[in-house]
Amino acid sequence: NRIISSTLKMEDYEIENTLRPRTLNEYIGQDKVKEKLQIFIDAAKMRNESLDHVLLYGPPGLGKTTLSNIIANELGVNIRITSGPAIERPGDLAAILTNLGENDVLFIDEIHRLNRSVEEILYPAMEDYALDIIIGKGPSARSIRLDLSKFTLIGATTRAGLLTSPLRDRFGVICKLDLYRNEDLNKIVYRSAAILGTEIEDRAAEEIGKRARGTPRIANRLLKRVRDFAQVKGNGKISFDIAVNALDLLEVDDLGLDMVDRNILLTIIEKFDGGPVGLDTLAAATGEERNTIEDVYEPFLLQLGFIQRTPKGRIVTKLAYEHLSIKEKDAMR
Ligand code: ADP
Repeated sequence: NRIISSTLKMEDYEIENTLRPRTLNEYIGQDKVKEKLQIFIDAAKMRNESLDHVLLYGPPGLGKTTLSNIIANELGVNIRITSGPAIERPGDLAAILTNLGENDVLFIDEIHRLNRSVEEILYPAMEDYALDIIIGKGPSARSIRLDLSKFTLIGATTRAGLLTSPLRDRFGVICKLDLYRNEDLNKIVYRSAAILGTEIEDRAAEEIGKRARGTPRIANRLLKRVRDFAQVKGNGKISFDIAVNALDLLEVDDLGLDMVDRNILLTIIEKFDGGPVGLDTLAAATGEERNTIEDVYEPFLLQLGFIQRTPKGRIVTKLAYEHLSIKEKDAMR
């Protein structure tokens, strides 16, 4: 139950809907992605055609769902939202597809978790806007083709490499979302505070942004907790001191690391002499799942330059030793 987990928690639901930007202009950061999407959106609108299928990939909480809503909004079409694990049978997907209107958007989160038989329905749907249905059984079975409205599939996943290549190849637009820069997170915190009607000092917004691990979802969650703290311990305004006190209390350090990150770094340092150590071994030694380490913790630690990936495994860098105030030699002994 980590405060800085980037995956969606119950406490986020209400606040996320209020804080979600509705247009590309309101969407902060990710300039390259926005520029690319704006061109494709404008072109589709000019030709009055559906937008090409879009694959969005990157760690959780970076704004993939938000971006999909914005795309539908900018296109002026409806969006239907679902996820890979929620579509169990081919018939479930067929029902969704036949209900889409002309040029509508279908958003499938965690698209890498679709099962094979469902995924196979998607191929002709994406390519020819058609459904192939088998009627009857045995020798008298025959296949009929049903036409679908033209639509745009937006798939979201943490890593593009998790998709099978036939699925990946069917996306015309592929966008990678990167962890946000501190200045963008700062703006996101500022914008969210304004929407929530909370006064916040510039330095406080910066501090929250700095500890949010490059992730808007975490920035908003930290803001919400700090706001509560400001209400109870102060006069409601978020000053720099209030922010620092609240964040320290939440055990998020000044770079946004928490116990789990420190545990990963310390495990590599203490049990494996700083590395290299393979991902599976690291997962076993820390009790974390391999995929979670790779998709959630590691991107941020890599961005900070605290670990490096080498062909032999992960190694902890000098920067991490410095941050943890450990001398390399001490640790090796
Ligand atoms: P994902 O689908 O990648 O897990 P979401 O789209 O649900 O992430 O985003 C999480 C929250 O972060 C949203 O509620 C939204 O308020 C906020 N957010 C994400 N991206 C941005 C952005 N570029 N600008 C402002 N807020 C953002």
